[in-house]
Amino acid sequence: MELTIEQNCPSCGASIVLREDDRLIRCIYCDVNNYRLERVAGRYLLPSKLPAHIDQSQLFYTPYLRFKGSIFYIRGAEVKHKIVDTSRIAIEADTIPVSLGLRPQAMRLTPVVSTVKGGFVCQTVPTKSVFAQAAMVTDLFGEKSERAVYHRAFIGETLSRIYQPCYLHEGAVFDAVDNRNLGDQSLVANHVAKTCASKASWEPQFISTLCPQCGGLLGGKRDSRVLQCKNCESLWQENDGKFMPIEWQVVESAESTAKYLPFWQVTFSTKGWNLKSFGDYLRFTNQPFVFGDRFDSTPLSFLIPAFKINPRAFLQVASQLTVSQWKLPKGSKRRVVNDHSVNLGDKEAIQAIKSVLAATTVNKKDRLPLLPKITVSNTECTLMYLPFIEQPHDYVQEHTRATLIAAALRYGRSL
Ligand SMILES: [Zn+2]
Ligand SMILES: [Zn+2]
Repeated sequence: MELTIEQNCPSCGASIVLREDDRLIRCIYCDVNNYRLERVAGRYLLPSKLPAHIDQSQLFYTPYLRFKGSIFYIRGAEVKHKIVDTSRIAIEADTIPVSLGLRPQAMRLTPVVSTVKGGFVCQTVPTKSVFAQAAMVTDLFGEKSERAVYHRAFIGETLSRIYQPCYLHEGAVFDAVDNRNLGDQSLVANHVAKTCASKASWEPQFISTLCPQCGGLLGGKRDSRVLQCKNCESLWQENDGKFMPIEWQVVESAESTAKYLPFWQVTFSTKGWNLKSFGDYLRFTNQPFVFGDRFDSTPLSFLIPAFKINPRAFLQVASQLTVSQWKLPKGSKRRVVNDHSVNLGDKEAIQAIKSVLAATTVNKKDRLPLLPKITVSNTECTLMYLPFIEQPHDYVQEHTRATLIAAALRYGRSL
């Protein structure tokens, strides 16, 4: 489930409603587009309904960490994955509920801004432990099983903080959302003593969506991580508060109705095992076909979806395309049309390299224990738009026959 956030338009101040994954914010009042920066993790407040005898400055806000995304982990000879979507408390407290349950989804949240009155309780549980509980794979993070886990990665995740407003009254602590009495105030005394005021650095930050090259308007979908300038034919991805140009290629299709799905073509170098050429990769993964030295001078790249889909479909299509990349014709840098929006950034794609390597390895028992010794560096990402033909239940890539369940693409956004 996605969160709904009420945000003031950075240009005209009007109240607009966003989803938590939205990046490109289009204001229906002033018609100005703004792009929300990734570097500021979202901090949101649940709405409070205060009785007359309580002032906003008396509120204290309890932090919850929200995690939504896919976890991949490689243990023994298995590559496993899991979708996680949860909010867990980030302080030790007995009175306050450990999870927010359905509240964040059922209510309209507002971003924390510097003018919010009241105190923010400091997080006391490390983010890693909150994750471990949230993923309910505690054994995975425990010391005993640590040796057997060769790799784990979080992909496509949103990490944000949601604050539950509370207040003290006549010796008791109250939930400020529904004014329920949660118990004796002594139970939260040490947390209330350690609060801080809201900070300007917690506020969401925006940049204008003008093309840095020609000044034209950049376009995209609301959750796009890569924006397009149709005026000068360029693609841009935000990095550290600036739009940076992205290289891309489009592989031609024989079908005029083909849908173009974006993939990150990731190249990298490795230490611990030589994976320089596509031939090296075929040997490492022990692919069951005869190739001799045919691919020893073919550079290796991984093809990772640049869009959100469930982890099973993600791994499947990345694996099929990476193994059969030699069947793809060379693309060209032409206008991108009939495409699916890029809503998974290049940093996420890089996180997936080892999971795809493991998933495509035939002899898992011998090879997967080598994964922790292999380090990946010098990663470079460009976009490759591949034509897929729509069939009743699947999208099929024309040259490699790689398939993607149509439903996975449709529901991917809500992941
Ligand atoms: Zn506006
Ligand atoms: Zn431009």
